Amino acid sequence: MKSSKPETPVATTARVPLRLRAEVERVLLTRNQIARRLRAMARDIQQDFKNREMVVVSLLNGTVMFLADLVRCLSLPLRLDFIGVSSYGAGTQSGELVFTKDLRLDVRGRDVLLVDDILDTGNTMARVLEKLGALGPRRIRVCVLLDKRSRRIQPVQPDYVGFEIPDVFVVGYGLDFAERYRNLPFVGVLHPHVYTAKQTSSVQNPHMTSSQPAKSASQTD
Ligand code: 5GP
Ligand code: MG
Repeated sequence: MKSSKPETPVATTARVPLRLRAEVERVLLTRNQIARRLRAMARDIQQDFKNREMVVVSLLNGTVMFLADLVRCLSLPLRLDFIGVSSYGAGTQSGELVFTKDLRLDVRGRDVLLVDDILDTGNTMARVLEKLGALGPRRIRVCVLLDKRSRRIQPVQPDYVGFEIPDVFVVGYGLDFAERYRNLPFVGVLHPHVYTAKQTSSVQNPHMTSSQPAKSASQTD
């Protein structure tokens, strides 16, 4: 297997829509940059899954846009299923993961493509891999749109990565902060004042750096 290298965001002249400028600092990835990269990722995936029927397992909710665009670039037979997972910060034990939806398809002996929006510490992916691995798939390949490699704690090695990004908190294209911004057609950097303002009244998660907002207890990914 030889996948194309992840891209790093290049400077763009694209501007944040006026109505969002107080909250979103800058555009990190435009819809065109994302679309182009997705086509290359889909080519890599097709090569690796040739002649196999795959089960695409996607983590809710952040993958909605990425998944919808990616699978439409794949001309392979595939089946689609979802796992719901939420991480809880302030209010409950920090970093605690809760599964909110289980798989319905049987993946035993199957080739699985596991899709997530962003790989950060790797805690979520490590837990999901453990859970999925116990179901006996033939193989699992990991595909993420974004990778913050510098933040990794768990030794998770993704097989397909769209973009390697710096340690900034991003929203848009499915990614949220407190359930907002998912509908932006681009990936943008959130102004730190948005999450520092929200956090002053709640317990600060000590594991988060200043560039990482603590998640509210009700946040789903
Ligand atoms: P990890 O368990 O790898 O630390 O975190 C993975 C999850 O945290 C992601 O699936 C995503 O939901 C959330 N996350 C991590 N970094 C960001 C970010 O920059 N923006 C948003 N919106 N979510 C993030
Ligand atoms: Mg997520």
